[in-house]
Amino acid sequence: MNIIKNTFPTEDLQRRDAAHHIHPFTDQAELAQKGARVVTNAEGVFVTDSDGHKMLDAMAGLWCVNIGYGRPELAEAAFRQMNTLPYYNTFFQSTHMPVIELSEKLARLAPDGLNHVFYASSGSEANDTNIRLVRQYWALKGKPDKKIIISRKNAYHGSTMGGASLGGMQSMHEQGSLPIADIHHIEQPDWWSRGGDMTPAEFGKFAALKLEEAIHQYGEDSIAAFIAEPIQGAGGVIVPPDTYWPEMQRICDSYEILLIADEVICGFGRTGNWFGSQTLNIRPDIMTIAKGLSSGYQPIGGSIISDEIAQVIGSEEFTHGYTYSSHPVAAAVACENLRILEEEAIVDTVRNVTGPYLKSKWESLGDHPLVGEAKIVGLMGSLALSPNKKARAPFKVKEGTVGVICRQHCFNNHLIMRAVGDRMIISPPLIISIDEIDLLIDRTLNSLDVAYAEVKNQGLWEAGASHK
Ligand SMILES: *Cc1c(COP(=O)(O)O)cnc(C)c1O
Repeated sequence: MNIIKNTFPTEDLQRRDAAHHIHPFTDQAELAQKGARVVTNAEGVFVTDSDGHKMLDAMAGLWCVNIGYGRPELAEAAFRQMNTLPYYNTFFQSTHMPVIELSEKLARLAPDGLNHVFYASSGSEANDTNIRLVRQYWALKGKPDKKIIISRKNAYHGSTMGGASLGGMQSMHEQGSLPIADIHHIEQPDWWSRGGDMTPAEFGKFAALKLEEAIHQYGEDSIAAFIAEPIQGAGGVIVPPDTYWPEMQRICDSYEILLIADEVICGFGRTGNWFGSQTLNIRPDIMTIAKGLSSGYQPIGGSIISDEIAQVIGSEEFTHGYTYSSHPVAAAVACENLRILEEEAIVDTVRNVTGPYLKSKWESLGDHPLVGEAKIVGLMGSLALSPNKKARAPFKVKEGTVGVICRQHCFNNHLIMRAVGDRMIISPPLIISIDEIDLLIDRTLNSLDVAYAEVKNQGLWEAGASHK
């Protein structure tokens, strides 16, 4: 194999990076001071930086490297396709082999009735497609006023104008005059921080009923769709109470609105089934896909839509598309990725072996003094850090302070974990082995221990106003 070896001093690379590269979701000035981590290569569940540190990547990159790093089959699929047909569009009544094969595979893997795919190069773009798609669908059905899309606070649906508007992150809305018109956000099913005195079951119903309230408020005749991640990912791996989705599904069934499941993280095995909708018993009309679709080896996303929507949308020209919709190289790589996921029974292994194993270990972290609750479904999990579990209290110090301390200790222990506020989250590659799960838990425990000591030493072990 051809490994390009890094021969530049790290500081030199960091300086050049800071001089010309603007990073996403990053405070540039702060980064320029600290210097970016230069990642040079990766294998399996491990990534290596320019100083030779080999780190367990418990985030699978950005939730996407489902089959793990370093699979030569995907490189070969890209190489073959580039040599055969590196690019052609699918706009003007053209098509090609990779996209035919990929669409057929996706229709087979997706829940019944979802058999048609519109491609994009990312999850954000796919959600932008969804906005236009659902509004056009209702317009074609003679209901042009059905335009509003209901989403949830703290949801993540991408970073384009449409994606960030669908998302419920306030810090994103504050930049660039968002959300765009006709998008409304309701309560999120985050019992830990929003459940007050209710039991999880009560709060699940309470949060779900907010959808019905919104339908009454805006009127069924003005609402096109409801969009949600089966399990909120970037919002902090918020696992909804068991009562939530059944009630949401009931509401979606009783009114004439479309249900969009944003499967960008939950799709392709993350929750132990091919799609999160299957794990949570959701029957969507549209699913957004990206990330695990190609295990991140190529940028590709899309919308898998129902037969009925495909028929209606197909009755007239849909004036929408991206130059790279159904890109042949991305499609070929995605096909190869799906082949590996299927033939190596990776999704079954998550459901029956590694998922249950990690769950038992992960939930036992809930006993650590720094951890308030430990939640996990399949291979996506979170730890809410708290100085007082009983009261479900946040820290008195600014939200995120303790999370960042903990994350830093994870890095020091060669473990890549992310902090969302004071929630620590994981989403490791789906090919993680039992031994590697043991290592992950070991390093997490060590990191929690030192973080706990540091929080106490710094005098930060103080509770703020309780969530109860
Ligand atoms: C990452 C993500 C997106 C956006 O995908 P990009 O490929 O980053 O544009 C959309 N929805 C969810 C649920 C995501 O996690």
